[in-house]
Amino acid sequence: MSTVYVAGHKSPDTDAICAAIAYAEFKKKRGMDAVPVRLGDLNPETQFVLKKFGIPVPELMTDATGKKLIIVDHSETTQSPDNFDKAEIIEIVDHHKIGDLTTPNPIFFLSMPVGCTCTVIKILYDYFGIEIPKEIAGIMLSAILSDTVMFKSVTTTDEDKKRAEELAKIAGIEDMQAYAMEMFKAKSDVAGKTPRDLIFRDFKDYVMSGKKVGVGQLEVVDLSLLDEVKDPIYEEMKKVKEEGERHSIFLMLTDIMKEATELLVISDEPAVVEKAFGVPLKERSVWLEKVMSRKKQVVPPLEKAFASL
Ligand code: MG
Ligand code: MG
Ligand code: MG
Repeated sequence: MSTVYVAGHKSPDTDAICAAIAYAEFKKKRGMDAVPVRLGDLNPETQFVLKKFGIPVPELMTDATGKKLIIVDHSETTQSPDNFDKAEIIEIVDHHKIGDLTTPNPIFFLSMPVGCTCTVIKILYDYFGIEIPKEIAGIMLSAILSDTVMFKSVTTTDEDKKRAEELAKIAGIEDMQAYAMEMFKAKSDVAGKTPRDLIFRDFKDYVMSGKKVGVGQLEVVDLSLLDEVKDPIYEEMKKVKEEGERHSIFLMLTDIMKEATELLVISDEPAVVEKAFGVPLKERSVWLEKVMSRKKQVVPPLEKAFASL
């Protein structure tokens, strides 16, 4: 039996890592030789979560050539393992819009419009009547709280809340809110990180109307935590832009408590911002009230705006 590698996206977030681990565990319980992998360094939140539940950090995968792959938490080629096209993708489990990954053969493809891949995986565990180990339940809960920003994000569904409550019981987490705040404090840690680290901590590339567009996000419990790093971050964004691959770079600085985002922008066509969000770009950013979700509140309006440029 050949090993199957379960991989989330590049610039991994807590869901990308925890979904890979939880789904590999699920497939192992169903008799597959499945191993979780990561496509990059863990962010401080994910480090906190794995440590808290005593789960080892997955191996780094730098090249998918010749491997069997299960893809979780994305289906965009720009976010997939290097040389995914020389690998065999046998399953995809996700909760985003359908991306551009394709396969020559029919595969198991499950995508649900819920707040987190780990919600989908919980549904699969339940469907097959497979027991979830305590520590795996803990990291799945963490991923749901992270992706839905403690159920405050517009991506949250009743399904996320229900499955999270069940996972909290298994994991022995009595106060989900208090636990989420601990996690978000870990997530907000920017100390000792270079501006480039921060830009790429949670960064996704898209192709919008033929143009390469990068959208990053930094989530913190209070935006004042970024006061000192904002200028260096913006200067570094300029450098990233000068490297030439991308038409536009957006960085969401999201305040988890205020439930709003300052969007830093560098673009060949800055007018795209007003088109997308109805507010003109002031110097380098726009303030977006009630915006916390990249996939529901930032990427779709940008795609529309790019299509109409
Ligand atoms: Mg993710
Ligand atoms: Mg996710
Ligand atoms: Mg996220």
